[in-house]
Amino acid sequence: RAKQRLIIAANRLPISAQRKQDGKWALNQSAGGLVSALSGVGNNYEMLWVGWPGVFVEEGPDRDALTQLLLRRGCLPIYLSRSEVDLYYNGYCNNVLWPLFHYVPLSFESKLSETKNMGLQWSAYQEASEQFAHVILNAYRHGDVVWCHDYHLMLLPSKLKEEHQDMNVGWFLHTPFPSSEIYRMLPVREELLLSVLSADLVGFHTYDYARHFVSACSRILGFEGTPEGVEDNGNFTRVAAFPIGIDPSRFTQALETERVQAHIHELRQRFQGRKVMLGVDRLDMIKGIPQKLLGFEKFLSEHPEWRDRVLLVQIAVPTRTDVAEYQRLTSQVHEIVGRINGRFGTLGSVPIQHLDCSLAFTELCALYAVTDVCLVTSLRDGMNLVSYEFVSCQSKNAGVLVLSEFAGAAQSLGAGALLVNPWNVNDMAAAIEDALTMPDAERRERQRQNFTHVTIHTAQAWADTFVSELNDTHVEAELRR
Ligand code: UDP
Repeated sequence: RAKQRLIIAANRLPISAQRKQDGKWALNQSAGGLVSALSGVGNNYEMLWVGWPGVFVEEGPDRDALTQLLLRRGCLPIYLSRSEVDLYYNGYCNNVLWPLFHYVPLSFESKLSETKNMGLQWSAYQEASEQFAHVILNAYRHGDVVWCHDYHLMLLPSKLKEEHQDMNVGWFLHTPFPSSEIYRMLPVREELLLSVLSADLVGFHTYDYARHFVSACSRILGFEGTPEGVEDNGNFTRVAAFPIGIDPSRFTQALETERVQAHIHELRQRFQGRKVMLGVDRLDMIKGIPQKLLGFEKFLSEHPEWRDRVLLVQIAVPTRTDVAEYQRLTSQVHEIVGRINGRFGTLGSVPIQHLDCSLAFTELCALYAVTDVCLVTSLRDGMNLVSYEFVSCQSKNAGVLVLSEFAGAAQSLGAGALLVNPWNVNDMAAAIEDALTMPDAERRERQRQNFTHVTIHTAQAWADTFVSELNDTHVEAELRR
């Protein structure tokens, strides 16, 4: 029997195209979370990806050649223009939906001037969904499963279902879904909910996000929310939590390699005599990097005995560097780091090593492995995979995870981690002390719990569960019709 076909619709394709000097195309596998999450599912399904290849190409033979290359790798490209990327992706997705979903409301001053623009951005958002729908509908065969991803594609489920009522459509959100009190600020709040509800199955990382979604549907649309989903006059949409994970073997295997072992050795020598605390975040407001630094400053000011015995390594991966708010955040973070190092540093050492860059995978693994305390202080975070990755690299060391209660991961790693409210500096300073002085047996027991969780709830299990639940839900829906 032929494998069932799984069509994955996501803003970006798992493969990025780049033009080489000779004018031909180079294709690179992207290292994103979704790609590795779905790599294992490919064994059970025939996969077809639909998304933007990351380059601008005019219509013509050049574009056709790229389409052919991508098709051979199971990818159907959506060609967005520069202005579409600007209005739909940077605009509506990243300036409107993304902040709102992370509880950064449409603020009065900054957004008022953009209200006019928001109309254009919304049109571009609608058009992008049309393009996705068009490509998918052309490729669709009866029996295929279509899995739509994230806030970029909230309008896609309804556009697909309008054409094929019996199409098997799922939608998954990779960010938080906010309380309905925040969500209802959105001018197009009804359209987006209605479209998402036309899917058979709607998934979120945590039970709380699912609950917020159901309550938005009942308050804004007047539909009935049940523990299983949302009901409107006999039409039922299943809503559930599917916490994503990582592929832990990618990390545990890397730790065994000579390359990573050499890095580990080198780092151990460099950090000798000091406990190592680690932060790994995109330099984004939601990651709470200033709050983390303030918590650490408080800790150092209260515990002079630790000043030359602890080091905080903060990897701040640059993101959206062309946006003014992000540039301001960068300067703010640099200022705080400078102040703390000035205040507590000595001729021999400083308490914070802050890097504005990304690391190679092998370096990251080594850093995770030698860390004693990992600090995740997100103000909001859909899941936070850094916390999972840290745990997967700590079998030997049994370091402590200090984890924000506002990260989705707090729902799954809460038992093993020390949970903190990143807005409370005292709480953070106390958690840092607890983590640094935790008895060996307790550290090992907490690590054991987290490691078990990370090993069982892998990315592949996540994707398998979602797709099989989608198939079941669809069968039930067909029986009801
Ligand atoms: N990461 C990376 N290079 C780095 C630092 C981090 O590729 O130099 C990866 C990290 O391994 C993790 C991802 O970036 O998989 C961050 O995912 P997370 O869910 O923690 O946060 P996001 O950036 O998606 O908000």
